[in-house]
Amino acid sequence: MKTLDKIYINGEFVIPHGTATFDLINPTTNQKTGEATLGDEIDTQNAIAAARDAFKTFSKTTKAERIAYLEKLGSIISRREKDLTNIMVEEYGGTFQFCAMVTQNMINDIHAMIDVLKDFDFAQTVGNSKVYFQPVGVVGIIIPWNMSNGFIVTKLSTAIAAGCTVVVKPSEMSTQQTQVIAECFHEAGLPKGVINFVNGLGDIVGKEITRNPGVSKIAFTGSTTVGKIIAKAAVDSMKRVTLELGGKSPNIILDDANLNEAIPMAIFAAYLNSGQACAAATRLLVPENKLEEVNAIAKATVQNIKVGDPKDADTGVGPMVSKKQYQRVQDYIRIGIEEGATLLVGGEGKPQGLEDGNFVKATIFTNVKNNMRIAQEEIFGPVLSIIPYKNEEDAIAIANDTSYGLAAYVSSASKERAYHVASQIDAGRVCINGISHDSKAPFGGFKQSGIGREYGIFGLEEYLEPKAVLE
Ligand code: NAD
Repeated sequence: MKTLDKIYINGEFVIPHGTATFDLINPTTNQKTGEATLGDEIDTQNAIAAARDAFKTFSKTTKAERIAYLEKLGSIISRREKDLTNIMVEEYGGTFQFCAMVTQNMINDIHAMIDVLKDFDFAQTVGNSKVYFQPVGVVGIIIPWNMSNGFIVTKLSTAIAAGCTVVVKPSEMSTQQTQVIAECFHEAGLPKGVINFVNGLGDIVGKEITRNPGVSKIAFTGSTTVGKIIAKAAVDSMKRVTLELGGKSPNIILDDANLNEAIPMAIFAAYLNSGQACAAATRLLVPENKLEEVNAIAKATVQNIKVGDPKDADTGVGPMVSKKQYQRVQDYIRIGIEEGATLLVGGEGKPQGLEDGNFVKATIFTNVKNNMRIAQEEIFGPVLSIIPYKNEEDAIAIANDTSYGLAAYVSSASKERAYHVASQIDAGRVCINGISHDSKAPFGGFKQSGIGREYGIFGLEEYLEPKAVLE
């Protein structure tokens, strides 16, 4: 049995003041593997006090010093790549394929932030004035369980680049992953108090971070519901907020696309992180006269996707993170059937032989209408909705007929056509002919998918306050 009884405050792994414990459950087997001790309000206040103290000097460090910290961090994370990947697979059941990619992205993201920092001018001339970019202060970072360390590295490398200090509250379901990443940050030798990690519950640790006037900004990733609670509470102390929230991303297959390439790619994009991804392409929009052809390719593709042990390199869909998440996905599959969508493959219940873990059948509904709940609400599991459209105009209207606007995807034989369609979609990122990541391009949502942007210069500026000095 594992015991994780420490949090990280002021440069040390310490026993928290909080005494509540949280059971560590392996989602592949539903066996208890250990216990974590959770922090409370006092621990959170101690972490904020340490970050405030550290801010006095860290905010004055030079670009060169911050670049040196980031370079060291990057090399430690590279060295611990396997540990970081394996603990993700074990703790929340992310597939090895996905988790290995996330760890690689962490390394790339740090290097991208180093490049951005090198080029960023913290004192610019604008009009007749000097504009100085000053670190915003202590940043409270609140994140979900579905790619925990990926979010930590993106946000913390940006905070370090800006000269901010931080208190991180990961999900209580990410305690084991947090331990490994905290060790990496500790080894990077950042001054005491610059980075603090407090494991704990949202309505205790998260709430205190949001309330505490010692925190100047909240960088949140999570559900739209919690994002709104945080934004409302944060305004009392006028905290800056960036919110990376949910999504229901459309994937438009234009009528000239090669279906044999585009449909398997669409299914990969829908089942990203076993469907537990904010940017998953969960609405597949296809020309109505090609629906039968799409259905056949989609069904054949899913039958070749392995649902199973996330440790296996060929597994495409692992277990859901928890019993609660499993049940949520089951409920949506039932809702889809009740709403009259056609179940093409998958369905309710667990796949044969995988009864112990939180496994869901890789599922596709077809003939889905965009006003159905399965097309409008975030399911966060391997459930894809295929929605037929009449023409390009109709496809764009359906794509935008959602309260979300995080990501979108377009496939076409003509790049020009794809760009033209992309220009009409209300989403923070649009990928053409596949799924890709760019550590320097902005990431964030339109509409209910959030406020603000991460990555690159856009992300860095969210951690800075511009100050104009006029003569
Ligand atoms: P969640 O919103 O339930 O929790 C996210 C974090 O907020 C957790 O650490 C939680 O403990 C904390 N929290 C909960 N209540 C709080 C409160 N009252 N005050 C302060 N903090 C509180 O999300 P989840 O279930 O952990 O993750 C899944 C959700 O995250 C999905 O909706 C998904 O789309 C979203 N997400 C978005 C992105 C993005 O970049 N846009 C990325 C990944 C996940």
